[in-house]
Amino acid sequence: MRFSKRLDQVPPYLFAELERRISSMEAEGIDVISLGIGDPDLPTPEPVIEAAARAMHDPATHDYPTNHGTKAFREAVASFYRDRFGVDLDPNGEIVPVLGGKEGVSHVALICLDPGDLCLSPDPGYPPYTSGPLFAGSEPYYLPLAEENGFLPDLGSIPGDVTARANLLFLNYPNNPTGAIVREGYFDEAVEFAREHELIVVHDNAYSEICFEGYRAPSFLQTPGAKDVGVEIFSLSKGWNMTGWRCALMAGNPEVVERYRQLKTNIDSGMFEAMQAAAAAALTEARDFPAEMSEVYERRRDLVADALRSIGLHVTPPLATPYFWARVPEGYTSGSFSELVLERAAVVVSPGSAYGPSGEGFVRISLTVPDDRLEEAVSRIETALAGTSFHGA
Ligand SMILES: *Cc1c(COP(=O)(O)O)cnc(C)c1O
Repeated sequence: MRFSKRLDQVPPYLFAELERRISSMEAEGIDVISLGIGDPDLPTPEPVIEAAARAMHDPATHDYPTNHGTKAFREAVASFYRDRFGVDLDPNGEIVPVLGGKEGVSHVALICLDPGDLCLSPDPGYPPYTSGPLFAGSEPYYLPLAEENGFLPDLGSIPGDVTARANLLFLNYPNNPTGAIVREGYFDEAVEFAREHELIVVHDNAYSEICFEGYRAPSFLQTPGAKDVGVEIFSLSKGWNMTGWRCALMAGNPEVVERYRQLKTNIDSGMFEAMQAAAAAALTEARDFPAEMSEVYERRRDLVADALRSIGLHVTPPLATPYFWARVPEGYTSGSFSELVLERAAVVVSPGSAYGPSGEGFVRISLTVPDDRLEEAVSRIETALAGTSFHGA
């Protein structure tokens, strides 16, 4: 059988070796705790489930939906954006449902990029920022996220021959995997940059509702001029514990939204209307739920911070996202430190290098595991690595 080369262009799946090790440890009867994946452990809020169940009992939801989205869905999104971010969205033309943020992020490349074009993709970053452009026949150009720059891409340092060929810029704050938040004024610079170089900005907003210590993350769309240059993809997955539901939306520039809707009519037939009812309930009746979840993660965050400090690591606890991005001790790589933690403590942490070349030297620790498992993981790390003395790392 012959296949197209598209998948071969995607960087190899770096968790493969780690997964092999985990299954062999488990086969030996070892209790491995994974802090590797970012998938909320707690259930979807009750009002969302009830709205979905009610809608499923209504046969009117059983037909093909449209890619316009229901009026109720679009109005719920517009009212949420107005109240939460102070952003005005026209429900008729500036909002389209997408089947999970990942669907939006990966397919948006198909409406923005031609062969020969470049996509400006943060490194480390969510894998579809790379695979999406590759599937579109274009190439990703990595924008390193350096700690010295607050894990924000240095837009001014992008060479002119690159900006000339680029037509899409991905941004993602609060950021996965670094847990970084956007600095004041940065989105304004991004709008200016997009205007100057005539490119489309796609802001991947998966984490604005998971914030700590009173911090409230902005929407890209509240930046003056943002709607002229791009869109935001907002996902319900993380804030409302809905990763399995595949529920998100794209909002902002009406030309991008309409173009994306047209693309989707060729790929899928829209979001199940019962799902749209569930999303509307999340954004109206269960608006305060992500703040409750944030309290849970904040407590877990502090637990992990103490443990990492006790083994001698320097850590800056994140102000948003359920992720710790920690520099590995001197003498280790992302891979060798992940190995060490797995070997000694039977705890999985993600090697930073799995998120792109600039992730080397870091590991990502996820807080999306039940409290008792996290406590167990943390105490194992403290006991197993206490003698290793990473002090000075
Ligand atoms: C989780 C996540 C998403 C969205 O996930 P969906 O479940 O597909 O909505 C998007 N971007 C980043 C960076 C994420 O971590």
